[in-house]
Amino acid sequence: MTFTKGPRGPLTREHRSAISAALRGRPRKDVKARFLSWVEGRANGCWAWVGKRNDLGYGLMSFRTEGRHKTKRAHRVAFELFKGPIPRGLVVDHLCRHPWCVNPNHLEAVTTAENLLRTMASRAGLMSFIPAAPTTLFMEG
Ligand SMILES: [Zn+2]
Repeated sequence: MTFTKGPRGPLTREHRSAISAALRGRPRKDVKARFLSWVEGRANGCWAWVGKRNDLGYGLMSFRTEGRHKTKRAHRVAFELFKGPIPRGLVVDHLCRHPWCVNPNHLEAVTTAENLLRTMASRAGLMSFIPAAPTTLFMEG
């Protein structure tokens, strides 16, 4: 919809309602598309978050909802976008142990205790959780 510039002065009621109708119909940018624009595939199957990261190396994604800015951790956004809501009380664990990875297939919702055990086991070189099959980037569903 286009508007022609009228004479200077307050907008007419019709013009004002036409503007708000146009704004209402504007499609919101798809969150999944915005998310994927910050992802870079790695040879080991990890999806590297190329956006902002926090001090611990976790990716951060910002949202604007109702005029407010909100920052969420990118791997949690990945889990919610591709796997569904994170069960209450659980944390999202990285099977690959890379905090910057947002590949939903490398993420699992576990208890804090389980997460800690896995971290310790992996640091001790006892286990590797990286899935054997490489994951396709931009896979739908
Ligand atoms: Zn990974």
